[in-house]
Amino acid sequence: MVILPKDYKHTLDALQDEKLTIIAGGTDVMVKNRNWSGLIPRVEGNSINIFQLNELSYIREDESGLHIGAGTKLEELLNSPLIFEPLKAAVREMASPAIRHVGTIGGNVGNASPAGDTLPILYVYDTVIVLESVEGIREISIFEFITGPGKTTRKSNEIIKEIILKNIDYTGFYYEKVGGRRSDAISKLSFVGLYNADEKGTIKDVRIAFGAVYKTIVRNHELERQLLQSLNSEKSMEDIIDEYSQLIQPIDDQRSNANYRKNCSLSLLKSFIQMAGGN
Ligand SMILES: Cc1cc2nc3c(=O)[nH]c(=O)nc-3n(C[C@H](O)[C@H](O)[C@H](O)COP(=O)(O)OP(=O)(O)OC[C@H]3O[C@@H](n4cnc5c(N)ncnc54)[C@H](O)[C@@H]3O)c2cc1C
Repeated sequence: MVILPKDYKHTLDALQDEKLTIIAGGTDVMVKNRNWSGLIPRVEGNSINIFQLNELSYIREDESGLHIGAGTKLEELLNSPLIFEPLKAAVREMASPAIRHVGTIGGNVGNASPAGDTLPILYVYDTVIVLESVEGIREISIFEFITGPGKTTRKSNEIIKEIILKNIDYTGFYYEKVGGRRSDAISKLSFVGLYNADEKGTIKDVRIAFGAVYKTIVRNHELERQLLQSLNSEKSMEDIIDEYSQLIQPIDDQRSNANYRKNCSLSLLKSFIQMAGGN
């Protein structure tokens, strides 16, 4: 049975009553549970379809950051002047216009795939995930929310309500997705690097994340700190690149092989370091 909730409150009540599969755009749920041709997908247990809930579709900013309702469609992210350019760069490379028309940002986060294309961007923006249930609101950093491929710390009575990207300043960013054919290109790997330099060229902040090269998105604050020091002292980056190489542990799958993913990730990292003025 698929529940079509009247409104947001009804959704929270229904999630409290029983364990339900949440369906937003359904572009991941339907593929994961696909059935033989001509038959409806086999979702375990009952589900709740939140696609039509306007309460979850919004983008607004305040001093705590950029608030994106979980039901906001990928297409709406591209059309909003409030969305930061690095997030737009990632969404532009995602799927086809038809999938972006129904797929949501909450679905990309809830799916928790290491190849989810919005995720590296959300990691560099120190994103907070806001969950709600009839018991109240819970806020959790994306680093703690996603625990492995397809695994999150969401409780069955909770819904992802909103995603908050922190406000950060940057003077340069580099985003690259290595995929296959554009319209069905799930990432072989992806890379995002952001840096912020002052008017004298001193780098004040540097952030890096890799997608699809480990069980979760790879972001390491300690290596970013070391990279920041090296960028400002013109030290060689070889040791840092070596350390990142330990963190990048991709798998072989139908989209690519581990060796290619590793070499490609490190070469994107080197390009970013050069862009930020390092050697
Ligand atoms: C042809 C094709 C191409 C694709 N290409 C890409 C691509 O290039 N890059 C990419 O990253 N992805 C891609 N995807 C995957 C998918 O489109 C995205 O992950 C999309 O963002 C999922 O959103 P959705 O609303 O459809 O999620 P759904 O399928 O509805 O849900 C996905 C998961 O999130 C959970 N969920 C959804 N909303 C909530 C919520 N508010 N609270 C709690 N849990 C929730 C669901 O229960 C489910 O586990 C592709 C899919 C297809 C079919």
